Amino acid sequence: MRTLIRNGRAALPDRVQDADVLVEDGRITAVGQLGEVTADRIIEAAGCYVLPGLMDFHTHVDDQIGRFYLADTYESGTRAALQNGITTLCTFVTQSAGQSLPQAMAAARGKAEGRSHCDVLWHLTPTSFEPAELRALETLLAAGYRTLKLYTTYKAAGIFASYGRIEDLFRRLGPLGAQFMVHCEDDAIIAAVDAAALDLGDAHSHTLLRPEQAEVVAIQRVVDLALTYRAALHVVHVSTADGAEILVRNRPLGKLSFETCPQYLVLDDTWLQRPDGHRWLCSPPLRACRPRLRELARAGAADIIATDHCAFRPEDKDDWDGKDLRTVANGLPGIGALPHLAWQLWEDDADRAAFGLATHLALNPARRAGVQDRKGALCPGLDADIAVLDPAGPEQPLRSTLVPAFEAFPGFSSRLRFRHVLLRGDPRVEDGRLLEPDRPQGLPLQPSTATLSFH
Ligand SMILES: [Zn+2]
Repeated sequence: MRTLIRNGRAALPDRVQDADVLVEDGRITAVGQLGEVTADRIIEAAGCYVLPGLMDFHTHVDDQIGRFYLADTYESGTRAALQNGITTLCTFVTQSAGQSLPQAMAAARGKAEGRSHCDVLWHLTPTSFEPAELRALETLLAAGYRTLKLYTTYKAAGIFASYGRIEDLFRRLGPLGAQFMVHCEDDAIIAAVDAAALDLGDAHSHTLLRPEQAEVVAIQRVVDLALTYRAALHVVHVSTADGAEILVRNRPLGKLSFETCPQYLVLDDTWLQRPDGHRWLCSPPLRACRPRLRELARAGAADIIATDHCAFRPEDKDDWDGKDLRTVANGLPGIGALPHLAWQLWEDDADRAAFGLATHLALNPARRAGVQDRKGALCPGLDADIAVLDPAGPEQPLRSTLVPAFEAFPGFSSRLRFRHVLLRGDPRVEDGRLLEPDRPQGLPLQPSTATLSFH
């Protein structure tokens, strides 16, 4: 089967230009002015951008978070993704108490297989570091699972790793090719906040419980460790401009990258001052420094823009007594809003916006996940994951998710329309609508065992 996507404006790894894209047997085989090449199927892309299939590098689906089970399953999360041009959804396998990581992997596979509409890639969250667990981690690393998530906070949830632990893992697993993803909020600074002196019925107090300084200090500590041990470090969901600047400053010195999220770029702490402000609780919190962080992201400083998607049912978000915000379901959804809000960073220049999506939502996440030999760019030889994007469709409200869940971006809209989305060459979405919703075609994606470096 040969498919020709013609007359579009293609976002290539280094530039945006008018180009046709030829797809054969699930792979991209040619990109350029292809003239009268024959094909079994022609997709007319005049007036549209042709992008590599996008990735959301950071999502949570089909999992228990605190007291609540998330609203999105693999089925619904990957459907929201694919309809918005996201062909690979990255999510987490978290080791729970009494469970080995391989057991947790098998459980996640069981939930995802046969139900996912786009490809799925797992980051691993180890929570036990006994000798046998470390050996299991080394085996998974050798099998190509490279991305490990660590937390500098959340002791009560059993996922905290001390700086000493992180140092030890950097030293031991870094040379084996581990890519560390670290949630940076300094636990000692958070623990030192006098919660009794705060009005915990006021959602805005969350910004005092988890202050900017906690993130900034943790980023500096973990960056210093990564540079010392030459470990590959990706800092997740950076919410502060000061934290982002530490990473920008140190990036030339080592294997450092970071992501920020749409909520930190378009929402600020005033949302927590609304009467229903508790619904916008997430960690790290929405910040007053949003304009500076947005300017940094506009300048391309954030390697990756990803959602930290964590969708809760409205009744779960509202399930608190109004007295202690620490009991509120903590997290915001975003998968369906991601490409739209990222585009709007550069919407005064459509070519720049298309290039921004291709870089920060495709190329960089694919490289960080170690799948750039298959995903993340419009290049011959790679999987034909392709999004044909009309930048001038009818204006529509954003929908972060397709299931009944709290919406983090009410009143936000977009004119982007995904006219076609191909998954490994197979047309799966037309005009924003999923084709054959009863026939999910997504596959679990195993990172490469080849030596692939982010830098
Ligand atoms: Zn997360």
